[in-house]
Amino acid sequence: MRYADVVLPVAVPGLFTYALPEDLQPHVQAGCRVLVPFGAKKTTAALIVRLHDTEPQGINLKAIISVIDPKPIILDWQLSLWQWIADYYMCTLGEVYKAALPAPLKKGKAESRRRRTDPEPPADVVLPMPIDATGSTPQTADTPATPASPPLSPAQQTAYEAINTEWQSRNVCLLHGITSSGKTEIYIHLIADAIAQGQQVLYLLPEIVLTSQLTDRLRAVFGQRLGVYHSKYTDSQRTAIWQRQLSPEPYDIIVGVRSSVFLPFSRLGLVIVDEEHETTFKQQDPAPRYHARNVAILLAARMRAHVLLGTATPSFESYFNARTGKYGLVRLTERYGNVRLPRIEVVNVKELRRKRLMEGAFSPQLLDAMRDVLARGEQIILFQNRRGFATQTECRTCGWVPHCPHCDVALTLHKRIHRLTCHYCGFTTDIPTRCPNCEGDDLRQTGFGTERIEDDIHTHFPEARIARMDLDTTRSRQAYETIIHDFAQGRTDILVGTQMVTKGLDFENVSLVAILAADTMLNQPDFRAWERAFQMMSQVAGRAGRRQRQGLVMLQTYAPDLPLIAQVVANDYDAIYTSQMLERRQYAFPPFIRLIIIYIKHRSQTVIDQLAREATIDLQHIFGSRVLGPDEPPVARVQSLYIRRVILKIEPTLPLTQVHDHLYKVRQTLLAQHLYSSANIYFDVDPL
Ligand code: ADP
Ligand code: ZN
Ligand code: ZN
Repeated sequence: MRYADVVLPVAVPGLFTYALPEDLQPHVQAGCRVLVPFGAKKTTAALIVRLHDTEPQGINLKAIISVIDPKPIILDWQLSLWQWIADYYMCTLGEVYKAALPAPLKKGKAESRRRRTDPEPPADVVLPMPIDATGSTPQTADTPATPASPPLSPAQQTAYEAINTEWQSRNVCLLHGITSSGKTEIYIHLIADAIAQGQQVLYLLPEIVLTSQLTDRLRAVFGQRLGVYHSKYTDSQRTAIWQRQLSPEPYDIIVGVRSSVFLPFSRLGLVIVDEEHETTFKQQDPAPRYHARNVAILLAARMRAHVLLGTATPSFESYFNARTGKYGLVRLTERYGNVRLPRIEVVNVKELRRKRLMEGAFSPQLLDAMRDVLARGEQIILFQNRRGFATQTECRTCGWVPHCPHCDVALTLHKRIHRLTCHYCGFTTDIPTRCPNCEGDDLRQTGFGTERIEDDIHTHFPEARIARMDLDTTRSRQAYETIIHDFAQGRTDILVGTQMVTKGLDFENVSLVAILAADTMLNQPDFRAWERAFQMMSQVAGRAGRRQRQGLVMLQTYAPDLPLIAQVVANDYDAIYTSQMLERRQYAFPPFIRLIIIYIKHRSQTVIDQLAREATIDLQHIFGSRVLGPDEPPVARVQSLYIRRVILKIEPTLPLTQVHDHLYKVRQTLLAQHLYSSANIYFDVDPL
């Protein structure tokens, strides 16, 4: 009798074994999907991990119903990568399976039929080639890539050669190149080299930076060799790319977001991780809580491919790895065409408020500068890290503040839709005209969101054409691209937005950038707050003055004397890195130790507090002073679930498997108690 161990797209740990009927045996191998009975009456698609003859003991064995795929839809190495992800990030193989495959490939339809409602696929989606068994070799090296891209500048050429030299001794190289130094041009040359050698390239980008600006630039050089893998594409479009990568003529280059590390590459030679410092490379929810940059590095190591991490503001982890020799390090310290870095002017908001000179979120200096820039026909970017209109509504009589009934957060007023909204669960409600607590009608809006900034600019500059870019205005990829396109074409004068405006965009005519409130970034209760604030401010500053003249950045803050502000002004990455590393070493934070956060969620506040205390004590018995907590995250209740955290700090020398085993055991013991059985306990490894 033959048996198949299969994985199901569920969070239950372990594999499931089914009997493989004789007539199906010639038709299946590992990596194929089959239809299996699951649960009382249901059937589901499952992926075969291995076939064997060992009869399973003590289970009520069921048989596979039918075979879905005539050929494997995932490759051998993918299964072992999935297993590594499940082990390292402490989740089930089923959860990785769920994250890895586009939905139609999990549902068990042999052929993904396009639904009528699906929009036309974009030009870059070529429908899958019929699988040719004649065994022809992929046609890649016959048309050598002749880059329609400009020659490299001397500084770029030096960096390009240095990267190749580093790769002779190390797989991973970090390119630390300031904004607008022409990193993308270097990538293009390296990509051309790789595909000339018949290799595939993965170009990994954070979601938000994957704009047509970049894909147009790459497509101009690489044309039809390029496939784009984006979470905003439809399931059938993503399935088409998956199938094409399995065909004898896959794309040579995949430009994609986080989940593209799961695609079936057959001859990967180069991985580029652009904007490697971006925290959106780490998946938060649901599991697997993986870091795509780190998975890509592992993937590349297995395929003996080279990795280039590129950024103007490296993550401290990557910079640490580069400084300690684990990665190569190449710097690019001049902007292309010797465009000067912008001048940064610090504005002391505290003093201006005291003198009553602020006009809302705007200092008089900023308004003057905006007036000048608009008069010259140039463009402005305003960065405010809050969306909505007001961040808080407050009764001036009794101090009442409307909160979300399901989460521990104040509701944000959105004027355009006339609602109060919860940014955590999406709950919305009418804007009250009276305080429900004291019946008073003196309700005040405090805090400035991007909507309110937009309104205020209209008041100050009625003639200016304004666009707002935040989560609310960019629900579709189309809307996002339109805003960027209009701004690039000069159809908009002022772009106001959240951190979306800080990301790798290249606009020629922007001469003023303002950071309206640096303080919201500085006051986060997180050991990475300053690293992030520096990255965000440097990145947004990098949008200014990319061409003819030196740009101006206005940095409004209540704390102009913080060392961080001086470091941003001087663009002194090494200074902030060095000072933060001292603190991290002293207080034992990454990269000197590893963090695992144990998250605990429950509906009842009494139960959760008891459970969190008990979990902490159990963990302290094993890990001693490496255990911190329990504590509450900044938002300690979301969607009616209370949240507590226990933090585990482990030195890099501790064997991970043992650590994980202990954690699983503690969880199992806790959940076995009747009182805690409905709790949710999960792990976030290397949290960001
Ligand atoms: P980065 O990725 O480092 O921010 P980019 O690659 O976007 O920088 O380059 C900044 C600008 O300079 C772009 O408009 C790009 O077209 C231009 N540029 C960079 N390198 C060259 C080059 N070698 N020849 C011509 N233009 C270049
Ligand atoms: Zn009141
Ligand atoms: Zn809520």
